[in-house]
Amino acid sequence: MGQAGVDRDYIRKAMDAADLNAVRMALYQNTGDPALAALPQAQNMSDEQRNSLKQQAVDWLEANASTTRLPEPDDAELRKLMSMATAEDLGQLEFEARREQTAFKDYPFLVQWDGDKPEIPSDFRVVIVGSGFSGVVMAVQCQLLGIPYVVIEKGDEPGGTWNINRYPDVRVDTISLTYELSFEKDWRWKEYFGRGEEVREYLNHVSRKFGVYDNTRFGHALTRASFDEASGKWLLDVDTPDGPERMEASVLVTATGLFANPKIVEFEGRDLFRGQIVHPARWPEDLSLKGKRVAVIGNGSTGIQMVGAIAEQAEHTCVFQRTPQWIAPRDKYGQPMEPEVHWLMDNFPGYWNWARYMAGAPLFDTHALVCTDPEWQAKGGKVNPVSDAMRGDLAAYIERETGGDRSIIDRVLPDYAPMSRRPVVDNGWYRALTRDDCELVTDPIARFSENGIVTADGTEHPLDVVVTATGFEVVKYLWPAQFYGRGGLEVHDMWEAADGPRAWIGAMVPGFPNMFMLYGPNSQPVSSGPAQSTWFTIWSAFIGRCLMKMLREGASTIEVTREAYEAYNKALDVESRNLVAMTKEGGIEKNYYVNNEHGRLQVNSPWYGPVFQKMFAEPDWDAVELRKESQPAT
Ligand code: NAP
Repeated sequence: MGQAGVDRDYIRKAMDAADLNAVRMALYQNTGDPALAALPQAQNMSDEQRNSLKQQAVDWLEANASTTRLPEPDDAELRKLMSMATAEDLGQLEFEARREQTAFKDYPFLVQWDGDKPEIPSDFRVVIVGSGFSGVVMAVQCQLLGIPYVVIEKGDEPGGTWNINRYPDVRVDTISLTYELSFEKDWRWKEYFGRGEEVREYLNHVSRKFGVYDNTRFGHALTRASFDEASGKWLLDVDTPDGPERMEASVLVTATGLFANPKIVEFEGRDLFRGQIVHPARWPEDLSLKGKRVAVIGNGSTGIQMVGAIAEQAEHTCVFQRTPQWIAPRDKYGQPMEPEVHWLMDNFPGYWNWARYMAGAPLFDTHALVCTDPEWQAKGGKVNPVSDAMRGDLAAYIERETGGDRSIIDRVLPDYAPMSRRPVVDNGWYRALTRDDCELVTDPIARFSENGIVTADGTEHPLDVVVTATGFEVVKYLWPAQFYGRGGLEVHDMWEAADGPRAWIGAMVPGFPNMFMLYGPNSQPVSSGPAQSTWFTIWSAFIGRCLMKMLREGASTIEVTREAYEAYNKALDVESRNLVAMTKEGGIEKNYYVNNEHGRLQVNSPWYGPVFQKMFAEPDWDAVELRKESQPAT
């Protein structure tokens, strides 16, 4: 068994399950063998090249397997490796954006003092609202900087959206290796796409391992926050298990998520229905669907994810679709991660880094998919060459999954472009529709009756349980708590008086000093960046930079200027115009990315990912104003 602690057959098996791009990269980093650099990417290798790569890796691992981690290579070497990994010449912007994705550092993306830590005033404290992914990451950022903080969480454990969403078959739909946090390097996912309960377990683990859990007050719900101009502090009214409490914060960070408030649709006759109505974010633990007639209204990521599992249990399943969705398959979705792959991650230095990097690589180059190409359109194309090709591929997938059943295909094929809405991942949805006990209903819902749902054509669909997978009130940022800034202005009132929620780089609002939002308005990058959890890290690091600047300069407040906020939002509106989501091809009114009331982008940032990322990594300090307590407001 030698150095490896496992036999040759085991390593060979590991190679069969491994990502060969990651194998090639890790092996090259360990050996420097130029023949490996000359190999094409795995998908373009001949059988002979693949076999020989596996053989070389088995030989090397048998003699050299080790649990040590590789140090981060210097810039030139890292850039060479990254270019080799995805077979492209990386521009400086892309290199800077992606370099920490390799996660050789202990705390990629996060910031640390470099020997010049100022004294932190004894009453300085950050309060973070929410202990989902973003709240936990922000807490780790504070911890790294040695800045006192407390997390308040209305639930009784960390988890955020993963705590409230416990519907059948809930799981991540981006591969777990990219969804995990880059500073926690020891978690080994049970499945390639982790189930909800494992994501909760993971976040709990991260929270405890990095000391956040002990600084979290569970069962604490913020109801009202007001900025006290005299003291420069936020005064927080918090409901706690022991009654209302007043807390004070030097800096307030909201990490309450985009999907905190379920959208409850007031269907006519809803109250008449004698069966059970359930929103997925309020799934009753003891709900059994066995032998029942079940409806699922909605085919966003949530509705699509659960139908396969529901159809397995229910006697009859009715899928109510208002708008067709583009639904794509994912490689290894629903598959367990092989123990041999876990072994590689633990014993093949560099393998975990490159497996993670390569798993995220398809996200790097998605900008072309979301932008229209007027020249292409003038020649008769729908959006642009890659978008149109994707449309063809997805249409072919629908054809395959439904066995060519036109009665389904004609009703589920969207008439707008892919990627204009949030991509939805197939979890056996099309297959479920082909079952004898599953019915697709596309006639509009007219009303609920005592026995079920009546559609516009007059048909009554008898039902026992209706699942309303109708989404979330994404436009209600920070709701239901209220936030009063300078002059007693409430943030929702301010937004409502204009054209809905806006922010500067999704994080700051003028008149609300020392307040930062994680996942604020227009902050979800539309393309070409890392997975969402890494954005939480990037945003938290930006707040970390602001905290460092405040403390270094002895400032008591930091605030975005109104001019910067307005100029940024003007530019954002212009940049949005080119996005397919905002055009006829994207079916503009059919989209939660879009604020239909005001006809503008509300959830996404329209910028090319690396450009948006740079706004956080190298903040425009001219956009913010720092003041000492004694200075009056300008
Ligand atoms: P969603 O994408 O907003 O979808 C809501 C669905 O309900 C749509 O099909 C919508 O139809 C339908 N609907 C809304 N109001 C309706 C009405 N009055 N009558 C009939 N149908 C109605 O919400 P979601 O599926 O909960 O997903 C929200 C987000 O959560 C996702 O985009 C994703 O970011 C996240 N998510 C992630 C995962 C994951 O990673 N595993 C899983 C689930 C959700 P229209 O299209 O016609 O509006």
